[in-house]
Amino acid sequence: MRGSKAIGIMGGTFDPIHFGHLVAAEAARSCFGLSEVVFVPSGSPPHKADRFVTTAEHRFLMTVLATTTNPYFRVSRVEIDRPGPSYTVDTIEALRARLGSDVRIYFITGADAVMELMTWNRPDAILEMCELIAATRPGYPPADIQRLRQAVPEANAKRVHTIEVPALAISSSDIRARVAQGKPIKYLVPETVEHYILKSGLYGGPLATGRAGAGPLSGFYR
Ligand code: NAP
Repeated sequence: MRGSKAIGIMGGTFDPIHFGHLVAAEAARSCFGLSEVVFVPSGSPPHKADRFVTTAEHRFLMTVLATTTNPYFRVSRVEIDRPGPSYTVDTIEALRARLGSDVRIYFITGADAVMELMTWNRPDAILEMCELIAATRPGYPPADIQRLRQAVPEANAKRVHTIEVPALAISSSDIRARVAQGKPIKYLVPETVEHYILKSGLYGGPLATGRAGAGPLSGFYR
């Protein structure tokens, strides 16, 4: 497989996307020689059914805005357009069928999410079809990295990689809280995303009317 083409799939809810995600994707691209990184915003996150998640169209548009300046980054609607819960295995399976077996696929996401991999739908199939890159935040305990490797069957442990991403000190939950409290989010997200959040009234910002982002297109292009 050495020398064969490799691509990255950057999976996340991206509610909202921030510089930590972008730095993680670029770090993975450079470390693993990826020819491109495809951002896949989760359509209907299966593990968040009991939680409020911003409308997929808002999250998709913010991801497009955030990635436009990097020629190696693309955004896919695959999970947004597929009905039902957004299982990673379905996304990777569709991609594998399209790319054939010669292209290496790396699924990139947060280390805390990877830690739960064995609870996802068909984890063995995921590990068979792709390798995983778990992005860790600063201060991620080394013991947890060890636990992360132990979380998958031993035969597949080598297919789980970690990259340390200092910019992941930024988090989506902190950004949402900051907007709700009227605090600045400048330099935490690309300027286009900052403007989009404020203009659309997402996260209880100053222009919010009710729960912007709750309905299929509510708060959209007001
Ligand atoms: P999450 O539980 O919201 O996030 C867990 C941690 O990972 C958070 O600290 C989060 O930080 C971070 N994170 C998430 N995506 C990241 C990324 N691309 N790069 C760096 N850090 C990231 O996780 P999620 O976003 O909902 O899910 C992550 C991925 O796992 C998605 O693609 C999702 O579809 C997949 N997943 C699949 C299944 C399944 O197939 N059954 C189940 C669970 C998750 P931020 O909040 O700052 O992003």
